[in-house]
Amino acid sequence: MLLCSFTLGVMTDLKNYKKKRQLDKTPEPGSSEGKSSGDKPIFVIQEHDASTHHFDFRLEVDGVLKSWAVPKGPSTDPSEKRLAVETEDHPLDYADFEGSIPEEEYGGGQVIVWDQGPYEHRTERDGKAISFSEAEEKGHISIWLEGEKISGGYELIKMSGKNWSDDQWLLKKSDDAEADARRKPTNTEPKSVLSGRTVEEV
Ligand code: MN
Repeated sequence: MLLCSFTLGVMTDLKNYKKKRQLDKTPEPGSSEGKSSGDKPIFVIQEHDASTHHFDFRLEVDGVLKSWAVPKGPSTDPSEKRLAVETEDHPLDYADFEGSIPEEEYGGGQVIVWDQGPYEHRTERDGKAISFSEAEEKGHISIWLEGEKISGGYELIKMSGKNWSDDQWLLKKSDDAEADARRKPTNTEPKSVLSGRTVEEV
């Protein structure tokens, strides 16, 4: 498995997750690996009111949550490209995490599950489906989300060139029937889809 990951040039593991946290001092989930969430993989978008407010966009892949921090959150407008900074893989249990991380700990601040649901990985090359790790390596990932607030196609596009660092991607709504330039769900729909709380109420 590890050899396979190296061959593809993509790692999915929770070493950095553990390294960054004192798991006895934060209410965040431990780092149990490999628990599948069900028939379809899931995505989750967590609003995180840390020192810099952002949304964490996570996709279930190979037993972990691949993660990006999106400062402005997802847009439903296909003309809006949102910066998405790749962060460490998170354990699957994190998908339901809401709570208050102590200020002095890594990522200190309040977290809610802003949206969640099944998703499909749909990246193709020359008209044929390719694996998630191939898409990640190529720097262009196509997905289909079925959340309560966010749905339809999205693209994650890795940036390259001297003005971009290696962890910077753009998250963009595909131009499909679910696109809507007028909706601003990150402003108008602030409540957790799990608890109904806003991030201020956590
Ligand atoms: Mn975060």
